[in-house]
Amino acid sequence: MQKYLQYYAKLREKYEKLMEGRHGFDTLGRDLLILWFITGFLNGFIRSRIITLLSLLCPLTVLLRMFSTNSVKRSKETRKYLELKENAAEFFKLSYRKFQERKTHKYYRCKNCSANIRVKRVKGEHTVVCPKCGKEFRVKIR
Ligand SMILES: [Zn+2]
Repeated sequence: MQKYLQYYAKLREKYEKLMEGRHGFDTLGRDLLILWFITGFLNGFIRSRIITLLSLLCPLTVLLRMFSTNSVKRSKETRKYLELKENAAEFFKLSYRKFQERKTHKYYRCKNCSANIRVKRVKGEHTVVCPKCGKEFRVKIR
């Protein structure tokens, strides 16, 4: 047992030495690995060059990013990715909400600041005030 622990400690030391000054594993790397597993799974059912290419590029990208010494650039990529992911999540949440409330509310976009405005579905012409910028505009609900 002691022998294995010593071996493990030695391996860990070697790994830490190898990863010194390198970017390492992060959220984007994790999500790329998840994408790799998904594309690998899909590859069994769908014959597509794009999926095959993705399943080859994902692990390669993860390795290149892990061993990259340009940590600033890698962090920037991760931040950009997280921003995109957050925007996509918000878009789907809003779309789901719009769908759920399609019979009771109507959504508009402010022409001034492009904020989403939720208006109760009452027939007729109404004046709506944007809660974000305060600009008024007229809407017609049929
Ligand atoms: Zn506005």
